[in-house]
Amino acid sequence: MYREVILDHYKHPHNAGTLEHPDVSHEDTNPLCGDRIRIDLQIADGIVTDVRFLGRGCAISQASASLLTDEIIGKPVAEVAAFGKDDMLDLIGIPLDKNPVRIKCALLALKTLKTGVYGYLGAQLEDEDL
Ligand code: ZN
Repeated sequence: MYREVILDHYKHPHNAGTLEHPDVSHEDTNPLCGDRIRIDLQIADGIVTDVRFLGRGCAISQASASLLTDEIIGKPVAEVAAFGKDDMLDLIGIPLDKNPVRIKCALLALKTLKTGVYGYLGAQLEDEDL
């Protein structure tokens, strides 16, 4: 059922762990499946310079987090904020559209990431940006 790349990321997650002084740190859960993911980001001059994730749960949720961290490292924060659901599903590369529980597993990492990034962008707003 799962692509080999999913199982490989699940067994050997990329960018696993936490950062000591993250600019963004957010944790979220998917109660339908019991998945939990925390994502830490280091941001310098508007670029994601480092990323780590910590999580537990099913193969889809953890592999998605691993794939997503690979995808966003070195990217501008604005581009990360614009990364969407369809981009995430393309990245995972397996059809999940008929299974709402699996979709929540697949999107948990993205939801966690974007909630953190939007909070960060909001905190950066100056009067002249309003
Ligand atoms: Zn799950």
